[in-house]
Amino acid sequence: MLDHLTYTAPEPKVIAGAKGDWELVIGLEVHAQVASNAKLFSGASTGFGAEPNSHVAFVDAAMPGMLPVINEFCVAQAVKTGLGLKAAINLRSAFDRKNYFYPDLPQGYQISQLYHPIVGEGEVIVDMGPGVARRVRIERIHLEQDAGKSIHDMDPTMSFVDLNRTGVALMEIVSRPDIRGPEEAAAYVAKLRQIMRYLGTCDGNMQNGNLRADVNVSVCKPGDYERYQETQDFSHLGTRCEIKNMNSLRFIQQAIEYEARRQIAIIEDGGTVVQETRLYDPDKGETRSMRSKEEAHDYRYFPDPDLLPLDIEQAWVDGIAQSMPELPDEKKARFVKELGLSEYDAGVLTAEVESADYFEAVAQGRDGKMAANWVINELFGRLNKEGLSVETSPVSAAQLGGVIDLIGSGAISGKIAKELFEILWTEGGDPAAIVEERGMKQVTDLGAIEKAVDDIIAANPAQVEKARANPKLAGWFVGQVLKATGGKANPAAVQDLVAKKLGA
Ligand code: ADP
Ligand code: MG
Repeated sequence: MLDHLTYTAPEPKVIAGAKGDWELVIGLEVHAQVASNAKLFSGASTGFGAEPNSHVAFVDAAMPGMLPVINEFCVAQAVKTGLGLKAAINLRSAFDRKNYFYPDLPQGYQISQLYHPIVGEGEVIVDMGPGVARRVRIERIHLEQDAGKSIHDMDPTMSFVDLNRTGVALMEIVSRPDIRGPEEAAAYVAKLRQIMRYLGTCDGNMQNGNLRADVNVSVCKPGDYERYQETQDFSHLGTRCEIKNMNSLRFIQQAIEYEARRQIAIIEDGGTVVQETRLYDPDKGETRSMRSKEEAHDYRYFPDPDLLPLDIEQAWVDGIAQSMPELPDEKKARFVKELGLSEYDAGVLTAEVESADYFEAVAQGRDGKMAANWVINELFGRLNKEGLSVETSPVSAAQLGGVIDLIGSGAISGKIAKELFEILWTEGGDPAAIVEERGMKQVTDLGAIEKAVDDIIAANPAQVEKARANPKLAGWFVGQVLKATGGKANPAAVQDLVAKKLGA
């Protein structure tokens, strides 16, 4: 069990209505594009930003007689994601057709997994601050095809269709309604994104739509959710509305807040919430109805006759389990336990898999806390300022490690180390060689330091008088000596000598 997973649950968000308090209940359906070069049932490329309709196999275009062939890698990616969410893997799953008409859907149906998803129940621990976390249950993950894209804004009279995205593999990750506020919903999506990026199963790019969420929101009275938890009886919960296709963490939070208040106002006014699909308009900051349950699609799901049930072997799943990288929760717990980092620092360092890898390369064989300080304060600080990321950092992990080694061996002081970092940042080079060539080594030679102290004392007789009367003024001499030696004198040695000489 992970130490840092001993947590308490956060308080649910409460909204005060005109007639008392309300609580929020939220469940998410997250669509994550599987990181794969080829599509779910064809060998066409999944590359982003290509010429429209250049990545379309005959089967994607639904040419008559074409048959889908399952991409084993996409299945492995879904299994890996399931294992990352501590979920049950179903050795037998099956594909169904979800039928509807849309110009960007040439097949007239999407291949999905309604009745027998590949992944069953799992969980995600959503961090909400040190020692505070929410456990969100996962209901299922199924594999399905993405649809194409209709383009309505390129021509005043015509619409265009781009099928590059048609047939790209998606994982739909369905949560239980365990999320209790807007911040939690955003943190949940961020956590899924983090886990999948560690696993390499989804690139998590929300801007490109590679990770997007349908957000289900309802409101209830305090105590109702606990009754639902005890009985798993949904009738204790309010009627939900589903906000479609959200691809920004900020908008997810805004939409939930708006939607909850809208529902509260309806109920308090004596009305009833109608179950429906809504869209969020970020410009207006409100949700509006897209379609109600009455006009909801009847998808006429049925098992896809072109595809056999998907049977996978336990040994194959075990092989994938063996190849799993360390996940963020485990890595964070290890940083706290083995390297003595604070939970906060460990969280910062593990937030992105690239940061964690960089830090581990710096910390390897060195003092973990010192490595964390340098990576977080100096490196991340500078990267943020310049709008760079760890992948584009001018200072490599090996170089930063070299700086830390030079401090550790006493070759340079902390102050000089910052200058050295600056040189590495702007000019590059080998840290030890730079220190050698530019004479940046710390002076630990007591004779040399003593001479510098003597010089300063001799040159400032009036200050010496004052400092002898008031020992607090000795700091001035220390400062002068450090200045005279270009910051290279060992400060502790300077302090000792100054005190000795002034005391004499
Ligand atoms: P559908 O497939 O028709 O959208 P599901 O039962 O699969 O219906 O539920 C979809 C999502 O809605 C799930 O994430 C679930 O957790 C969530 N959900 C169900 N009931 C509620 C509710 N009362 N309030 C908020 N979310 C809910
Ligand atoms: Mg739904």
